[in-house]
Amino acid sequence: MHLIFLGPPACGKGTQAAILKKEHGYYHLSTGDLIRKEVTAETELGRKLKVCIETGALGASEIVNELLKKDVENHRQMGILFDGYPRKQDQAEFLDSVIKENGSVLKRVFYFDIDANELYKRILGRITCNDCSIVYNLQTNPPKEEGICDCCKGQLVRRNDDNESVLKNRIQSFFEETAPLKGFYQKRGILTVINAIAPVELVTEQIISAL
Ligand code: AMP
Repeated sequence: MHLIFLGPPACGKGTQAAILKKEHGYYHLSTGDLIRKEVTAETELGRKLKVCIETGALGASEIVNELLKKDVENHRQMGILFDGYPRKQDQAEFLDSVIKENGSVLKRVFYFDIDANELYKRILGRITCNDCSIVYNLQTNPPKEEGICDCCKGQLVRRNDDNESVLKNRIQSFFEETAPLKGFYQKRGILTVINAIAPVELVTEQIISAL
């Protein structure tokens, strides 16, 4: 049984995904992480996706779909938590077909409701673990030791795309291209809207109570 997190950058999806992974055994499938791996490894797909990571525009669905399908097939025995995918209608339809092919079910979609101004405040203080991808925030959720991940002792870094101009594109792309998917899943009766301004534990409670 799979879940989707729909939400703009810095809405807290990554933090909640880490909690569901640790405490409920979900596989956290982040297409952003898959893309960054390809870019770092300088693969052919990575070279094609590099520009979109750098500018905050969406990557071509055919390429992202290919990465997604492979990763779903590698984790077919697990409950998957999709983070950052789907980002538009054609991807939502592709995901339906992949889930069907794997004989699984999409259980619930969580929409992280948050105002764009709050996102700017949050994102500029954000740092991410290079090794396990856990996200901290210098203002609201700092690590115990500066620059070091509490969980795996990896190095904490600022993402290259966490700067203001790229951020504007990413937020705009979310509200224009991804937010309309809310209606798509609402019609199916599997959408839960989360108040994402709430403290981390209260956001977790909202998710768990809807599972
Ligand atoms: P994220 O880590 O989810 O914020 O993704 C980082 C960047 O990767 C985005 O700004 C997009 O350029 C690209 N990306 C991630 N997921 C997708 C997707 N499902 N479709 C297209 N581009 C994506």
